[in-house]
Amino acid sequence: MFNALVLNQEEGKTVSAVSQLELTDLPQEDVLVKVDYSSLNYKDGLAITGKGKIIRNFPMVPGIDLVGTVEESADSRYKSGDKVVLTGWGVGENYWGGYSQYARLKADWLVPLPENMDPVRTMQIGTAGLTAMLCVMALEEGGVTPDKGPIIVSGAAGGVGSVAVSLLSGLGYQVTAITGRPETADYLKSLGASEIVTREEMAEPARPLEKQRWAGAVDTVGDNILGRILAETDYNGVVAACGLAASFKLPTTVMPFILRNVRLQGVDSVMCPVERRQEAWQRLAKQLPDDAVGEIAQLIGLDELADYAERITNGQVKGRVVVDLNK
Ligand code: NAP
Repeated sequence: MFNALVLNQEEGKTVSAVSQLELTDLPQEDVLVKVDYSSLNYKDGLAITGKGKIIRNFPMVPGIDLVGTVEESADSRYKSGDKVVLTGWGVGENYWGGYSQYARLKADWLVPLPENMDPVRTMQIGTAGLTAMLCVMALEEGGVTPDKGPIIVSGAAGGVGSVAVSLLSGLGYQVTAITGRPETADYLKSLGASEIVTREEMAEPARPLEKQRWAGAVDTVGDNILGRILAETDYNGVVAACGLAASFKLPTTVMPFILRNVRLQGVDSVMCPVERRQEAWQRLAKQLPDDAVGEIAQLIGLDELADYAERITNGQVKGRVVVDLNK
């Protein structure tokens, strides 16, 4: 028997409970993994609370991230004892995920753990950190180098935002952080932000073009903030958009694109090809400062997930939350 957080539906509402399962309860897939750690992302919060239509088939074990050790593999790429990491691919949404001491998974979904990454650090980064790295890569590919000017990061005290601030600052960029929580200013400065602007100021509806302020941006929130960022982005600037913590709307015009050559680059981590994931994980292993990661994350157990899920969907979680499956 082992423990897992299981979601069910009762009278149209999602309910979660830590339950005892047998290995025979797990779906049939190629690789059996003993899960050491998972993490809590915004999407996990929506799934556990039922606030977002993330889960369509119940019962479901949520958890879109996991790191663990292979116990059995029917696929020649993996053998018992291998350390692996998984993020995305619909795991924890359409397939049973990481909030479980054991998981059966497709070999195609797994990435070998980079040599210099330990399991806790891997989940301190998780989907949020991987997405932040993919955003940084999008800026670089669009020609936004540190000498071009400041980068603005929205939802900065959240998971994606915190890692993005730390990564960008470590790579030599000047970073401005947008937050709705002024009490996180010292935290954001310790991650490398040189300037803090308020969510309120940035959420003011923008004119089609505003004064140019940013060489690039990482946006995790959408809506008016993304609209204002686009209107304030420099000629040839790049905005990497990955989230919708405010909403999925985007009030904007074509003006930044046709008059300032601004590029709006979408970023998805869920179906990101394996080669690009491996590159991103290798870079995270080398380029994300260790002290920053420690400061960004906190550790919880399975029984605390329901409470933290509520908090993350209310924008009350700072940085990253790691789930210890053996706590
Ligand atoms: P998170 O830890 O909850 O961070 C979100 C942050 O957004 C909050 O901490 C808050 O930051 C800010 N925020 C919350 N409500 C807001 C509102 N109404 N208006 C403006 N800002 C608000 O979540 P996360 O895990 O970092 O994920 C962030 C977003 O990225 C989510 O929408 C998530 O679904 C998305 N995401 C996408 C991908 C992908 O593959 N595209 C991958 C991971 C995450 P402050 O307190 O600092 O203002």
